[in-house]
Amino acid sequence: MSEERSLNFLEEIIENDIAEGVNNGRIHTRFPPEPNGYLHIGHATSICLNFGLAKKYNGKCNLRFDDTNPVTEETEYVESIKNDIKWLGFQWDNEFYASDYFDKLYNFAVALIRKGLAYVDDLSAEQIAATKGSTTAPGTNSPNRDRSIEENLQLFSEMRDGKYKDGEKTLRAKIDMAHPNLLLRDPLMYRIKHEHHHRTGDKWCIYPMYDYAHGQSDSIEEITHSICTLEFIHHRPLYNWFIEQLGIFPSHQYEFARRNLTYTVMSKRKLLQLVNENHVSGWDDPRMPTISGMRRRGYPPAALRQFSDTIGIAKRENIVDISMLEFCVRENLNKTANRVMAVLDPLKLVITNYPEGQEDIFDAENNPEDPNGGTRPVPFSRELWIEREDFMENPPKKFFRLGPGNLVRLKSAYIVKCEGCIKDEQGNITEVHCTYLPESKSGQDTSGLSVKGTIHWVSIGHAQTAEVRMYDRLFRVEDPSNEEGNFKDYINPDSMNVLPRVYIEPELMKARPGDTVQFMRKGYFCVDIDSTKNKLIFNRTVTLKDAWAKEVKRG
Ligand code: ATP
Ligand code: MG
Repeated sequence: MSEERSLNFLEEIIENDIAEGVNNGRIHTRFPPEPNGYLHIGHATSICLNFGLAKKYNGKCNLRFDDTNPVTEETEYVESIKNDIKWLGFQWDNEFYASDYFDKLYNFAVALIRKGLAYVDDLSAEQIAATKGSTTAPGTNSPNRDRSIEENLQLFSEMRDGKYKDGEKTLRAKIDMAHPNLLLRDPLMYRIKHEHHHRTGDKWCIYPMYDYAHGQSDSIEEITHSICTLEFIHHRPLYNWFIEQLGIFPSHQYEFARRNLTYTVMSKRKLLQLVNENHVSGWDDPRMPTISGMRRRGYPPAALRQFSDTIGIAKRENIVDISMLEFCVRENLNKTANRVMAVLDPLKLVITNYPEGQEDIFDAENNPEDPNGGTRPVPFSRELWIEREDFMENPPKKFFRLGPGNLVRLKSAYIVKCEGCIKDEQGNITEVHCTYLPESKSGQDTSGLSVKGTIHWVSIGHAQTAEVRMYDRLFRVEDPSNEEGNFKDYINPDSMNVLPRVYIEPELMKARPGDTVQFMRKGYFCVDIDSTKNKLIFNRTVTLKDAWAKEVKRG
């Protein structure tokens, strides 16, 4: 699919640049996360884009931590980000930190002051906002705008030396207070923050603003194509202004539309609230749209890459249906996940003509989609667990599972004929009784019968128990951020349903955290990191079919 699609607009720009010999055809991108949270699926698409373009055009891609805000950034986030990128299958050419450039950025600022293009202002944040003007009215000049170069140099170095309190002074670019683009009305370059930084410690008490630091960091690294999301489109003239005035390497900024997903939220601020207020168990809760959550849930990295490739890149904001991501997950797991049997809602089945104490060991195929998938032994005996929903005492016509008189194949084993059931005093069905046809053994069936239904089972004497965590969407509505009130009002109260006693095949005890299997007829499940050697815990990764699509159709 990806080979056939036409070039996206960034690929067109890049191929044009290569053809024209811009930067001698050199392509260098970067992924610039702010280490203030865990990465989410939106970031994953940005990673695929930046690393993918570098790979496609024999270029390079840097990982740059945009760590210019000391208050929200932590080393824990840096480590998780690196881990997530590697897991997605990418390797950066260089690992850089915007904070490594604090000295250079300071010197650039001094150069702008020397050129009369930056000044120290005493106005408070409120006063600056009040004098910004509006889209229809020009702003007004700060009374400090015409300070001499010497005075600005002096004040700026005093700012750095800690002579002033937070908010007392700022450094502003001297552009035009009547500029039609409000972002160019003498924007802030530096603010004072007496805060400890996760890498530079207490060396600095002034920190550069995003708009000032970002383009200069790109330029220092000689990034050729600086790709960011659409909300920065109006920042591009400022990005260019700094680079032009400083006369440094001309990096270029290109914007594409942020990707959003239905039934979740994506801003790190909101995700942090979900974590801090215990709506989820952590950043890697399997219901979270974070890369770590999806990994824990059992989404394969190839599915995330395929998703990113499939949705492509757009110039307009859009919200992507989460079922598209789930489709990619299913497609990948269908090829790789072993098929195993697990009974989630058990009912006892007794095969009355199968001798007590006898057992068969079947050699079951692991994955019909994978010729090299191998087989595994599956024990069979007189008493089995089956799914409660696979038996009906008075089944309707087209019920091809167990009902009195019906023939059904037990997967990988025999055809059985249902003889009836046993109930307790309250009328609950406690056992289903069947007889089996010894000549119908799977693979060497001479019965001549063809049956419509096949059901899965687990031998009671051999079964192991496991816990299964069934997940559903974290939110009840498509776009919780766009609803009235607080997004948290729309959390789905049934997003996790724990089944404490599920029966699994004994071979499955060999599975390790992170392994994903298909529970036949039930969905894909992944071994959770909370598992112990003796007790496995499974996360439902995704159902076999899109249950929500059906519901919508039913209305
Ligand atoms: P958030 O608003 O979720 O906190 P952010 O933009 O502040 O995200 P950054 O760490 O600054 O997060 O983002 C790193 C890179 O990932 C940026 O280049 C940003 O444009 C990109 N990115 C972030 N969110 C998305 C998204 N939803 N879709 C595509 N790219 C994204
Ligand atoms: Mg950001």
